Amino acid sequence: MAIRVAVNGYGTIGKRVADAVAMQKDMKLIGVTSHSYSFNTEVAKQKGYKIFTLEDGAANELKNNGITPDGNFQSLLENVDVVVDATPRKIGKENIDKFYKANKIKAIVQGGEKHEAIGTSFVAQCNYNGALNKDFARVVSCNTTGLCRTLNALNKFDITSVHATMIRRGADPWDIYHGPINAIVPVLEMPSHHGPDVQTVLPNCQIFTTALSVPSTLMHLHSVIADVRKKVNVDDVIDVLNKTTRVRVVRNAEHLRSTAEIMEFARDLGRLRGDMPEICVWKEAIGTVSNGYNKLLYMQAVHQESDVVPENVDCIRALMGFKDGDKSIKMTNETFGIR
Ligand code: NAD
Repeated sequence: MAIRVAVNGYGTIGKRVADAVAMQKDMKLIGVTSHSYSFNTEVAKQKGYKIFTLEDGAANELKNNGITPDGNFQSLLENVDVVVDATPRKIGKENIDKFYKANKIKAIVQGGEKHEAIGTSFVAQCNYNGALNKDFARVVSCNTTGLCRTLNALNKFDITSVHATMIRRGADPWDIYHGPINAIVPVLEMPSHHGPDVQTVLPNCQIFTTALSVPSTLMHLHSVIADVRKKVNVDDVIDVLNKTTRVRVVRNAEHLRSTAEIMEFARDLGRLRGDMPEICVWKEAIGTVSNGYNKLLYMQAVHQESDVVPENVDCIRALMGFKDGDKSIKMTNETFGIR
């Protein structure tokens, strides 16, 4: 029987997860929630998704705009096995306590929630089994997902410590409320919280991070320097990354020199919404140094709106007891067109 899934919080992440769930043969999207009427609700309706409202106020707002809700949140919860909660930060944890436990439903929350509040943090290719049969799990943030995917693979060279700087997009493309639009803003937290967050998935990774925000909406960029025990050369690194799922090595020869060109590439590939869920590592920005010590340096781009979406799909399977993580990743990848 198909896994019955609801998506609560139909915004940047939620609408993508809803589409991804609807594409899985072993899952059925029972419905999505609408917190308030917007173009997102219109598109959900056009896609034929059932729309459930959280409060009477929201239901009236929808009705005033010509959409009849299919029921309230409680009626949605009564018909699902698992909720993907993609509400703004802190609400996911509150919803676990308020709704999901009371209804005995499994739930996945997003990277805006704290690991300590949930207990299980998830990146499919790193720790799928850790979420097997759990009631609740947290799909980590876009930055943490990006760092975990590549560091987990490159640990083949015995990483002893990592320093990473995250150059973060100021806002998502649709977002007119956040910035900066003309400044570089350092995160005034040293080291930044991203390192400890990576350790919720890769507990043995000694990682120290710094972060800053820039006036861009197109992807984050990570500059990573790792100390490794094994002598390492660039070709070996490329080989490992080419064999790592959900990671793509991009090349100067393709004219993929920037986050802008990578996003254009994703659009040209015909990806839904022009998304690039793979972490893109620039071939020419991989370097190694062996001089009494072994260092590995690389830069990667992270599409903040989409890299966590396949993770949510795999996490649904893990919570529901689907044991074969590799098979789940393969099934999910096929629906996304990920090689
Ligand atoms: P968003 O603001 O784009 O979407 C949130 C949606 O939830 C909106 O549609 C909003 O109307 C709705 N909402 C608000 N309050 C609600 C409530 N009480 N109940 C139900 N719905 C409600 O947010 P987002 O960017 O999709 O972020 C969601 C989560 O995903 C956060 O934890 C965030 O940290 C995480 N995340 C975001 C990104 C990103 O780059 N946008 C990347 C990875 C993870």
